[in-house]
Amino acid sequence: MVKLPEEAKTALSKLRESGFEAYIIGGCVRDSLLGKEPKDFDVTTSALPDQTKRVFDGFRVIETGIRHGTVTVLINGMPIEITTYRIDSDYADNRHPEKVTFTKSLREDTARRDFTMNAVAAGENGELVDFHGGCEDIEKRLIRCVGDPDERFGEDALRILRAVRFSSVLGFEIEEETKAAVFRNRELLSNISSERTASELIKLICGRDARRVLTEYVDVLAAVIPELAPMKGFDQHNEHHIYDILEHTAAAVENAPAEPVMRLAALFHDIGKPRCFFMRDGVGHFYGHASVGAEMTSVILSRLKLDNATKETAVKLVRLHDVQIEETETAVKRCMNRHTPEIFFMLLRLKRADTLAQAPQCLVRLAYLQRLEAIANDILNRKECFSMKQLAVNGRDLMDIGYAQGRELGERLNELLELVMNGQLKNERGALTEYARSRLCRAEGDPQG
Ligand code: ATP
Ligand code: MG
Repeated sequence: MVKLPEEAKTALSKLRESGFEAYIIGGCVRDSLLGKEPKDFDVTTSALPDQTKRVFDGFRVIETGIRHGTVTVLINGMPIEITTYRIDSDYADNRHPEKVTFTKSLREDTARRDFTMNAVAAGENGELVDFHGGCEDIEKRLIRCVGDPDERFGEDALRILRAVRFSSVLGFEIEEETKAAVFRNRELLSNISSERTASELIKLICGRDARRVLTEYVDVLAAVIPELAPMKGFDQHNEHHIYDILEHTAAAVENAPAEPVMRLAALFHDIGKPRCFFMRDGVGHFYGHASVGAEMTSVILSRLKLDNATKETAVKLVRLHDVQIEETETAVKRCMNRHTPEIFFMLLRLKRADTLAQAPQCLVRLAYLQRLEAIANDILNRKECFSMKQLAVNGRDLMDIGYAQGRELGERLNELLELVMNGQLKNERGALTEYARSRLCRAEGDPQG
């Protein structure tokens, strides 16, 4: 039995009152059985899309995927996706089905679904219909294909990545035969569009078991991101590291906040290392790996067609992950000015994740990172000036006292900001214009100056 919200019950009862079968199915049933709050409720029904539309006459109905039999109905503000029972057939190139056939059989609809845990249906009163042993697999925390795994992965290779993603997000193991097929069929993933793979990958790295899954399934992930492959088993020959590059990376991912951009930055922070490795006196070095890694991250995320904002932030974090920031107010202000406070704090979180994944003697760095954070918070709380737009004078003010538009004006503003940031000048209009005027007089009085 699962508990349904009123909106989902309404959707099911309205369809049933009109003589159709209707169940909730998929992630919402699985998550309910796991005691988790489902994100959304999907309904599967014997009604054809036009019939569904008629049943919900008077409601707001959006034709989300009418060709695949899906309409979305807004019930009391909650969007509910309602899809007609269907059989998918004729998969070409291991991707989307060529043909969608509607059916009157719930059993046939469940048989087209990817995993047993995603093929359990629940009726209006929460009663379960389970044709494929999904409840038992959920109980055992196992991901198992509905039907023959090789066939199912051959129909739609994205399912390979979905299996691995669910393993990370739910903390489930992949059942043995399904797992063998995941590895056997991994090369099929190259037929899948970047948009579909990227969305699964991001969920995967944000999952609670990302660390285990990244190390266990790197060969599968390398079918999507070949750059990951050289990290596996790469000995760093360096006392700061107790892990190979892949193990270190996986641990850093786990220690980074579970947000896409932070986890992406952690995943790629050392991706440049294998290309930069060299040995001197028995010790491994990786000079330049941060900028090489940033370039690689940019190439990978462009290939995955990630949005520019996420890509640029991740690339920036990879590029900066190894910079040393001095423990002084001025250094912290300079860094926040250059990269924004937002990036500065993200960088501290990435450095923390990186440090936590290193040898125990490196953990002293955590205190240093905390001190940097305290300095930054203090600067923000005191509303200290660290950027041009906070400076008490602007270009217009300097022009009013005799500066001409151009290079000197820009240089003077930068100088003022620098002097304010390191505490030599107060961020007050009077003090700043006075100083700027004195510099101007000196320049006028001394042609060489
Ligand atoms: P999530 O919590 O990530 O939304 P979900 O199980 O709801 O998980 P969706 O991608 O929303 O996943 O898909 C809804 C349902 O549709 C799945 O539970 C599954 O039954 C079916 N499904 C989705 N994608 C596939 C696929 N590629 N092949 C077969 N069935 C699929
Ligand atoms: Mg879903």
